[in-house]
Amino acid sequence: MTSIQYRVSLANPHAHLFNIELRIPTPDPDGQIVSLPAWIPGSYMIRDFAKNIEQFSASSSRRLLKWDKLDKQTWRCEPSISLLTIRYQIYAWDLSVRSAHFDTTHAYFNGTSLFLRVHGQDTTPMRVEIQRPDTAIATGWTVATSMLAEDVDMDGFGFYQAEDYSDLIDHPVEIGLLTHLEFSVQGVTHRMAIYGRHQADTQRLAHDLSKVCSQHSKMFGELPLDRYLFLVMVVGEGYGGLEHKSSTSLLCNRDDLPNVDAAANGEGYRRFLGLCSHEYFHLWNVKRIQPEVFLSQNLDREIHTHLLWVFEGITSYYDDLGLVRSACIEPKEYLVLLANTITRVMRGKGRLKQSVAESSFDAWTRFYKQDENAPNAIVSYYTKGALVALALDLTLRIKTDGECSLDDVMRALWIRNGRTGIGLKEGEVEALVSEISRQDMKEFFTHAVYGTTDLPLAGLLQYVGIEMHLRPSRDDKDMGGCVEKFESIKAKPVLGVRMQDGQDTVIGNIFEGGAAQTAGLSAGDQILAINGIKATVSNVMRLVEYTDKNQELEIHAFRRDELMQFHVRPLPAPEDTCDLRLLTAETDICNRRAAWLGSTSL
Ligand code: ZN
Repeated sequence: MTSIQYRVSLANPHAHLFNIELRIPTPDPDGQIVSLPAWIPGSYMIRDFAKNIEQFSASSSRRLLKWDKLDKQTWRCEPSISLLTIRYQIYAWDLSVRSAHFDTTHAYFNGTSLFLRVHGQDTTPMRVEIQRPDTAIATGWTVATSMLAEDVDMDGFGFYQAEDYSDLIDHPVEIGLLTHLEFSVQGVTHRMAIYGRHQADTQRLAHDLSKVCSQHSKMFGELPLDRYLFLVMVVGEGYGGLEHKSSTSLLCNRDDLPNVDAAANGEGYRRFLGLCSHEYFHLWNVKRIQPEVFLSQNLDREIHTHLLWVFEGITSYYDDLGLVRSACIEPKEYLVLLANTITRVMRGKGRLKQSVAESSFDAWTRFYKQDENAPNAIVSYYTKGALVALALDLTLRIKTDGECSLDDVMRALWIRNGRTGIGLKEGEVEALVSEISRQDMKEFFTHAVYGTTDLPLAGLLQYVGIEMHLRPSRDDKDMGGCVEKFESIKAKPVLGVRMQDGQDTVIGNIFEGGAAQTAGLSAGDQILAINGIKATVSNVMRLVEYTDKNQELEIHAFRRDELMQFHVRPLPAPEDTCDLRLLTAETDICNRRAAWLGSTSL
């Protein structure tokens, strides 16, 4: 045996412990160093997976070796010249797409949580053995992973292989009582494996997903895969996705999946399809077209790039666009989603302080570790990035009279950086856009990517016969939408706060320049009474709304355990809610719209 081999035993579901045995045939004679990544690609936060390692031991020639730790995630074993065997346990109790989870209902893991990296041997082929558990709990369990099977039984237990360490950690594994479904896209087998109790209409899922996947493949002009897998964990409440080269891990609400009995597309199902569409788009954009700095595969510490707006923003633009272009949703439904995104961006004053390039660079500490001040201080490279992509797409279409669009840019990126594996340098997208459109786009990028002023979306959307209108919100659920005609809505008096989810009347965020901030209220304060009336989750907004113009409110609140009193003069709700309206259009405009949305039916 020459390759490095990992054996995964599902020995102790009650303690949530995986047993791992790592066999290194030719260890470093000076003392083998091994480490676990600090983060997982696609999720830009230091997670220190090594904290979950227990019972580390090393042996060679039937002798236990000494070892020491070099830092939080790195071990060095006593020198040995023959087969080195390292055994350890992994505590797995994080039900998310980026870590590992193991109990009596399933075992799920990412390689970044389980497989120690053997320093000096990153590029050698590796094998993984997934042992069938010999417990009755695992009756009926099957294995789902996109890792290349070498010698497995009909349920998927047995041996898998990986080209190298980066390949090894790019195939999450789900083991349990799974629902399997299959469909084909351009002749490539796509599978979905669902864990968790559900009553999903699998035929419908396969039908809709194949349309979305085909759409993205068609847009890029190439599907660079021989297999693809959607791993889905169904829970009562949860949302998340993580992209990989040949698969994706998704977490969704049970109610988001289409029920066998339900006829119509619900909002939840649209969200689920959007998530699938997003992660699938990543198989090109970020997994194969990737920033040059990501090529190092250094998972020990943060890697900074100004380009996440390209990889997450453009992907966020195409996720919903892919749904309408593949006819999974109607154009009007797409406009609702677009209006919601514009509203989300307009609601944060951080957009006037941080550019999407800065937001990308500081993702690790600012976007992934958001605190109560986030809406005032930062902008999301996902939502603002999606609007930058929209603005870029429409600007290109306008400047070239429909000859060139963002689709052409993505295809060029695929050919130059995706197919070849050449990393994308900072500033390269700008140059590429100008080159293929033959337009000077410098000013666009200066404003949209490196600037903090609002994008000129209203003007750009006119080109495709869409009118945009910003108005005050009706209530805290109002995210704007697609309307027949614009309504003038009277701005209600508001405090300028957002309540904490599920926390009664505790203030979650205080908006900069709002009435509450001016009066001295802070995030974390619990509002007890407004003008002497007890405040509850359901009446707090109403108590504010029904105040007469210019009337000052007396608010009693707890800050920690101290009672405080504030005098607040509510301000009119800001115009931060977006409505979009389709203009009755001439043929020209209809054609442009059809070229953009891939649909003529409005
Ligand atoms: Zn993404």
